[in-house]
Amino acid sequence: MVLRIHSWGAKQLSYAGRLTLVKTVLSQLHCYWARIYLIPKGVIHKVDSICRNYLWSGKVWLLSRYSTQKTYHYLVAIRDKISWVPLVWNRVCLLKVNFITWLYARNRLLTKIRLLNVRVVSDGVCCICAATQESHDHIYFDCHFRSHFLELVKQWLEVSWSFHSLDNILRRRFKSLLQKQILMANFACLVYLIWMSRNTAKHDSSVPRPAKILQQLQHMIKFRLQVIGSEVSILRSRNWLIARGLIAC
Ligand SMILES: [Zn+2]
Repeated sequence: MVLRIHSWGAKQLSYAGRLTLVKTVLSQLHCYWARIYLIPKGVIHKVDSICRNYLWSGKVWLLSRYSTQKTYHYLVAIRDKISWVPLVWNRVCLLKVNFITWLYARNRLLTKIRLLNVRVVSDGVCCICAATQESHDHIYFDCHFRSHFLELVKQWLEVSWSFHSLDNILRRRFKSLLQKQILMANFACLVYLIWMSRNTAKHDSSVPRPAKILQQLQHMIKFRLQVIGSEVSILRSRNWLIARGLIAC
């Protein structure tokens, strides 16, 4: 039975193809021998296991029992972990913030240059500065609005390092988990608020002031701190939080 499966080049067959082979060939093999010999229950279970493994995964696992986890990993071909996942999908931020950050990380935001390519808009000029084409890189790296806003955020947080890359943030060492969560949340909120400012500029023809956006960001972080911060973690980072106005003295 196992040799048959190997000879079929199992991985190339579709689920329907494997089902047909199991019904017409594999299940008939042991039925044939069952007419001649009394087959022990353990062997029947083993045969069932081989058929089941083959049907769901296209493979034969002789030494181990059927595992849903192994089958799932085999079917979806789990790839290496993506570095930005903990930064993008965390409980520190609201879901709407996570979603925009996810689109940002995947370079999937519907910028004007992308809309122009599918002829949804007639020009691809940046909604905020109107100086050049509105690409993903322009909004998040070159646009003066982003630079101004980022400077304000860095002054507020008293950090000198760049928010340029997600890896840059993830590699850093933080004094406490809460500080790490807050700085990660800041990055996500930064991405979200820049995108929202861009949308305001596009739809309302007015660009929000970076100082006002900073207030929004501080408000968002304060609100989330109430949700995620335990008494112990807040106490541990008390001075750091007070210095940034996130908690009262
Ligand atoms: Zn711009």
